[in-house]
Amino acid sequence: MIALHQTELTYPGPPPVAALRPCDLTVHRGDFVTVVGPSGSGKSTFLNIVGLLDAPTGGRCLLDGIDTGRLDDPTRSALRGQRIGFVFQAFHLLPHRTALENVQLALVYRRVPRRMRADRARDALQRVGLGHRIHAFPTTLSGGERQRVAIARALVGRPSLLLCDEPTGNLDTATAAQVLDLLEELNAGGVTVVVITHDPEVARRGTRSLRIRDGVLTDAVVTP
Ligand code: ADP
Ligand code: MG
Repeated sequence: MIALHQTELTYPGPPPVAALRPCDLTVHRGDFVTVVGPSGSGKSTFLNIVGLLDAPTGGRCLLDGIDTGRLDDPTRSALRGQRIGFVFQAFHLLPHRTALENVQLALVYRRVPRRMRADRARDALQRVGLGHRIHAFPTTLSGGERQRVAIARALVGRPSLLLCDEPTGNLDTATAAQVLDLLEELNAGGVTVVVITHDPEVARRGTRSLRIRDGVLTDAVVTP
């Protein structure tokens, strides 16, 4: 589903920063891939390229066989909206909107008719175990619950690929484990998942684990 061919990104600077060195990678439908590396190693750069948020400065990035470098901006955005969901470390929820409204808003840009949005949002919240909290405001939810709302928001557009940038970075160990359980469950349900992390414990959850260091992406040996 994802194919990188000598993909790289150098920020122009000055001075130029080679944030991602040329890399080759294939991610198959149904994979649960983790990418682990220290701060500043290029993890977000990698995720932003795969997520079509940034264009590589060299090489190619294919999504479902589509060479994304050849698309104009509106087409790339449309493709991103149809196929990719994002989860970030900071949950980025609107504080004065309920969980349901936060999730529903993600459908406004996806041309889902207004009358269908609430049902779809409710389903997504049920899927992450928050069916009983749909009218809660983010400030009344725990960190783990907020991240579940953010995951529901990522899922409501029915993406085939879920990209998570340090999804447990703001959570305590027990809550983080629950969020990872949820991601595993979604993966078992058919969603391809990529999780970026600096935490080796989180990295062990993947069916496949990659390592990134100074912009160099390599396969990691994972000890069970
Ligand atoms: P990580 O997510 O692993 O912490 P990033 O992918 O954010 O790392 O950054 C990789 C490298 O690229 C770092 O050295 C960072 O300082 C640099 N970098 C990130 N964004 C920019 C930018 N917009 N312009 C210049 N350098 C950047
Ligand atoms: Mg980062």
